[in-house]
Amino acid sequence: MTKVNTVLGPISTKNLGFTLMHEHLIVGFPNAIKEFPELFVPNVLEYVVAGLKRTKAGGVDTVVDMTTLDLGRDINFIKEASKRSGVNIIVCTGWWLDVPRFISGPVGGVTAAQMAESFVRELEKGIGDTGIKPGVLKSASDVGGVTPPQEMGLRAVAKAHLKTGVPIVIHSYHPGQVARQQLAILKDEGVNLKYVKVDHSNDTTDIEYLAWILEQGCYMGLDRYPGRMTSSMARTRTMKALIDAGYIDKLCPSHDCSMGYILPVGKTTEEYEVNNPHRYLYIKRVVFKQLKEMGVPAAKINRLCVTGPRNFFEGK
Ligand SMILES: [Zn+2]
Repeated sequence: MTKVNTVLGPISTKNLGFTLMHEHLIVGFPNAIKEFPELFVPNVLEYVVAGLKRTKAGGVDTVVDMTTLDLGRDINFIKEASKRSGVNIIVCTGWWLDVPRFISGPVGGVTAAQMAESFVRELEKGIGDTGIKPGVLKSASDVGGVTPPQEMGLRAVAKAHLKTGVPIVIHSYHPGQVARQQLAILKDEGVNLKYVKVDHSNDTTDIEYLAWILEQGCYMGLDRYPGRMTSSMARTRTMKALIDAGYIDKLCPSHDCSMGYILPVGKTTEEYEVNNPHRYLYIKRVVFKQLKEMGVPAAKINRLCVTGPRNFFEGK
């Protein structure tokens, strides 16, 4: 039996249920809610808990919160939201985009191996003094490819994975095929790519490139719904093509949606959420309908968000 750490303790992968693999309860910057609370929607914890309760009632069992420390991961906030809503929440360690220059590079001098030790400590002992252990590692690169500080973070994530066995999720920029660079670095570190999930993949409709990623053994996050630039329908056509090509059990649909957020002045939450009032239920309510209309059988649709996530955490 494989276990995975949630913020309320380890659970069996058998009990993950319907799992959204890339979401955020809140995104900001470190300590944002405590120190700049007026930026956020009012009563942000209650707001997030209410959203999660609707999510749970809609049939979602587990959410993976991909907010790293530098994106504002607030572990006590997340724990409280999980407790009050009943949604299993798995959190991540690692780093988003550039590791600051006072940590890495010629100024900071911290090596990937040293950085990895901090990630390993969180994975084995817990975040701060909470005892809460993350369930995944995260690294990110974006437009412009893998920069030197990102490479340092990525190599640190690889080393932490090799020590602990905890799987890796990478944020990538697919219009530029940046995953090719990231996967080459992970391979160079000795990572078996079946322990890697490549996220935001539905930002491109280039099936040949996506099939190449899957052929490396990776899992795939189709996790920007409804998304910008690429339309929701185009994203679902990409998913259908990958299902038809036989990759269904490697796919992890999700929204990359922040349940609580920084609200621009003069905007209501309804206005802010106009593109996706369903929040974490968009896939169930809209995408599954699109797939059905495209002719994907119900038995296959029912495997989405269940089999892929479980396989990923079981290292299949
Ligand atoms: Zn995200």
